[in-house]
Amino acid sequence: MTAGSLKEYRKKRDFSKAPRYVIQKHDASHLHYDLRLQIGGVLKSWAVPKGPSCNPRQRRLAVETEDHPVSYADFEGVIPQDAYGGGTVMVWDTGTFKSANDESLSKQYDDGKLEIDIRGKKLRGKYVLVKTRGKSDWLLIKMKDRYADARRNPVSTEPDSARSGKSLEAIAGEASG
Ligand code: MN
Repeated sequence: MTAGSLKEYRKKRDFSKAPRYVIQKHDASHLHYDLRLQIGGVLKSWAVPKGPSCNPRQRRLAVETEDHPVSYADFEGVIPQDAYGGGTVMVWDTGTFKSANDESLSKQYDDGKLEIDIRGKKLRGKYVLVKTRGKSDWLLIKMKDRYADARRNPVSTEPDSARSGKSLEAIAGEASG
């Protein structure tokens, strides 16, 4: 193994042990994107109405919601309309993430500022989640790195599931038989 490939291998291994990252596209009363990050044994969760941006100049509101169990990261299907979160759920993006600085994820979360490095199928690179004055309001912002790209907009150009390739309509249709 050359020094270069060993470095690549270590980089991949770091991410293979990394905590889960998922964004679930959720067609509930309003279509939104649920960003979930595995921190402290649960999925910390934020509802992002407009979805993530790859443009560092765009700040996206991310409203913190209930923690979810880690197993929920793989859920794709339909939640009955009368239940909490009723509507169609798609695994829009999936992968892993890690802290983008020297602080632990739990410490950063408690401090209300999370700098993370995402390794998903659609999103890559560094993002910051920063808590605002509101009780549950955070902002999701792309940090400047080689993955920042103001022209790229995967929310509109890559609308389908990163897990199954299905559209929201296909997932909803399957559930209704
Ligand atoms: Mn939701």
